[in-house]
Amino acid sequence: MPYTTKDFETVAKPDWCPGCGNFGIQAAMKQALANLNIDPHMIALVAGIGCSSKMPHWVDTYGLHTLHGRAIPPAQGIKLANPKLTVIVNTGDGDGYGIGVGHLVHAMRRNIDMTYMVHDNMVYGLTKGQTAPTSPKGFKTPSTPFGSIEEPLNPVALALTMGATFVARGYAGDVQHLTMLIEEAVKHKGFALIDTYQPCVTFNKIQTYAYFVQHVYKLDSDPAHDKSNFEMAMKKAWETEKLPIGIFYQVSRPTYEEQEPGMASGIPAAELPIDDIDITKTMEKYM
Ligand code: SF4
Repeated sequence: MPYTTKDFETVAKPDWCPGCGNFGIQAAMKQALANLNIDPHMIALVAGIGCSSKMPHWVDTYGLHTLHGRAIPPAQGIKLANPKLTVIVNTGDGDGYGIGVGHLVHAMRRNIDMTYMVHDNMVYGLTKGQTAPTSPKGFKTPSTPFGSIEEPLNPVALALTMGATFVARGYAGDVQHLTMLIEEAVKHKGFALIDTYQPCVTFNKIQTYAYFVQHVYKLDSDPAHDKSNFEMAMKKAWETEKLPIGIFYQVSRPTYEEQEPGMASGIPAAELPIDDIDITKTMEKYM
């Protein structure tokens, strides 16, 4: 049946600060899932810890709220147990690029088929506004009262370097454009990163909605941009005066699941008995 955004609404309502960019990302997520018309029970939303990571509570699909920086291992396990599921991770820049960056780089080089959606507000919001991996140099917070002395992590350049096959950047203030990006990322076979600029209205007074309106531009507006060209994507990744949003890079490469010999004989989850939960045989086969 055709789904609408209402089918992905939950009874519980988000407790994000009024005006938080997460609302735009949530709206885009629900719209994209409705447009893709995927059965909600065939979607697994996985999250780490942070304001962004509450998303599985407020989009009505299967969901798993895991540990800080640890969303990828269970997300990979879910995908390998049942490759038919659409697996989407929601995480923040602190969770995904700080605590969880070790898991991230290996998932990208493996090319596991999942969408990795980072709500990038350049600050730790849930823990009251400390400097995060993508905070700009000089950023003043309670953890860096004299200004951060570190260069920020570049998520797009990192993803390109580590072999992600779909690399995009979105903006929470442009829900229609972000919806399109999520749809394309979910349809892509392989690891898809969407680094999403997400204004934190409470703790980031520099990268505000007004800042992004002034700085972002769409990659589509550059007819010369070729998303299959690695060097071109990398050059765009390092633009800092104006900030491109859209699909930087997209190529096709076999996924981890397609290459894993253990997956050739079927879907592991399908072997689980429904009435009598005894996974001994399945464990023996795959361990
Ligand atoms: Fe959003 Fe920032 Fe509030 Fe967290 S602290 S809910 S990121 S505005």
